[in-house]
Amino acid sequence: MTDVLIVGAGPVGLCCALDLVRRGLSCRVIEKSPRPAVGTRARGISPRTQEIFEALGVLDQVRRFPEPNLPARFYNREGALVRESEPAAPAAARADVPYPNPLMVNQENTDSVLRQALESSGIKVEMSSAFTGLTRNSHCVSATISTPEGLQTVEARYLIGADGGGSKVRESAGLQLTGDQWEDSTLYLVGNVSAQGIDREHWHIWTDPGWGYVTLQPVFHGDTWLFVATLPKEEAADWAAPTLHSIERLLRVRLPSLQISLEHLTWHSLYRRRLRLADHYRAGGVFLAGDSAHIGVEHGMNIGIQDGLNLTWKLAEVLRGAPADLLGTYEEERRPIAAQILGTTLKRDSIPSGENVAAKSITGAIAREGSANDPTQLSVAYRGSSLSLNLKAAMTVAAGDRAPDAPVLVGSRNQCARLFQFLDSTRFTLLHFAGGRSLEIARRPENLDVWQIMPGTARANGNTRALIDIQGHAYGVYGVAEDTLVLIRPDGYIAATAGVNQISAVLSHLALMTA
Ligand SMILES: Cc1cc2nc3c(=O)[nH]c(=O)nc-3n(C[C@H](O)[C@H](O)[C@H](O)COP(=O)(O)OP(=O)(O)OC[C@H]3O[C@@H](n4cnc5c(N)ncnc54)[C@H](O)[C@@H]3O)c2cc1C
Repeated sequence: MTDVLIVGAGPVGLCCALDLVRRGLSCRVIEKSPRPAVGTRARGISPRTQEIFEALGVLDQVRRFPEPNLPARFYNREGALVRESEPAAPAAARADVPYPNPLMVNQENTDSVLRQALESSGIKVEMSSAFTGLTRNSHCVSATISTPEGLQTVEARYLIGADGGGSKVRESAGLQLTGDQWEDSTLYLVGNVSAQGIDREHWHIWTDPGWGYVTLQPVFHGDTWLFVATLPKEEAADWAAPTLHSIERLLRVRLPSLQISLEHLTWHSLYRRRLRLADHYRAGGVFLAGDSAHIGVEHGMNIGIQDGLNLTWKLAEVLRGAPADLLGTYEEERRPIAAQILGTTLKRDSIPSGENVAAKSITGAIAREGSANDPTQLSVAYRGSSLSLNLKAAMTVAAGDRAPDAPVLVGSRNQCARLFQFLDSTRFTLLHFAGGRSLEIARRPENLDVWQIMPGTARANGNTRALIDIQGHAYGVYGVAEDTLVLIRPDGYIAATAGVNQISAVLSHLALMTA
């Protein structure tokens, strides 16, 4: 029996698999398509996702496919330039944030880096293998898979449904989507085409009050462009199978003066924005992550990857013997994040919710605490989570927050480093802010690392577990005085803050999350 069966080899399924494998678990990844997905979809890898990619060891490879942030040119339907806008200036580097800016990479390239990294870890995605149904018992999940060799049954301790918006796993597990009456009245025809007769130094956007907009944006690391055109929803049937010819005709009708030629339609998609949220993210040993759990969430790939990485360490700990209740905190922590983003989108787009119960379940989330719409996702936090224990008040950070980075000096080597380099994302880390004696822990749990963070004026005196806060950033950004403990989870979020004399409470809290 495999530990975890992952259904779907999109970015979420691939990241889940990469994380499970480096935690020493066995997993299988099945994908119904015969070949990897093509097409420009997500192009922005958020600062928080970059931190995750660094932990997964794929950030450098993804960075080999950067897309420039180009200025945008806006034209009217006659083709006259109306306005040109420069891309937003990059945010300045910060001591606590190693990657302050989004990284522009075409999702096709991101997916391919993730797939190759997984193959290097010894896991090959099983293509042409479609999940068709499941049965559950108290020990495992049995999934039926349709493969070219016939039907197979796979038994796994847990199953992750990362099979996108039309999730068969969601349906088979009896989980429902809410928000069913909520739909945008506009259709978006999206595709990748080659274009001649237009410069690749700008994003080109034509707008018209009658038909909306058409845009052509060069995509790098390949000779293609992203094409998007808004369409009225009544034309859905006409555009079910667009061709190069029909797209060219659309351009000719809308923009008669535009002299460009199109070739090679390599991917297209016709979509209508809908906001949907699964009523639960879990049914027994079956979990949903990514688009299978929420549809229409802005930054969907990033939010989905962050779902996955919230779940995988918990699965690993429970499989090692941690209390099974830990798995309940996945939905507790992640569903409100998607609910908040969907709720804010609904509010922003002024779509009346009326007495629609499904829509209200989304709008009801607006008042929830949190900052899920932060495009960096650095401020996404789990402050209200049952895994967040605050015994120490008056700090800048609180349990549930992302643990910030800081420059440090490795005491024993007199070498500059980043705090993040000492947060092993397969283990828990206890930061002990203190200048004096190091912390004595009688029975240190096997998967807990302890680092002493000493003020800049202190001397390590041979303490090999000392990091010196030479510039005062660590004490500053955590907002701590000496004799403070900060327990950090494997996924980089703070699990507990406490005084040094509360170490036993911190260890009891840790026992909820580990064997
Ligand atoms: C035009 C466009 C632009 C976008 N822009 C952005 C953006 O800027 N930023 C952002 O973060 N997100 C963006 N997104 C959203 C992003 O692409 C998705 O959120 C992301 O792909 C979701 O990843 P996933 O792994 O959950 O699902 P998917 O990528 O949908 O992958 C699911 C996989 O499961 C497979 N599968 C389905 N059913 C089965 C089955 N029964 N058995 C086996 N396999 C199955 C599918 O073939 C697929 O490969 C955009 C999407 C589109 C369409």
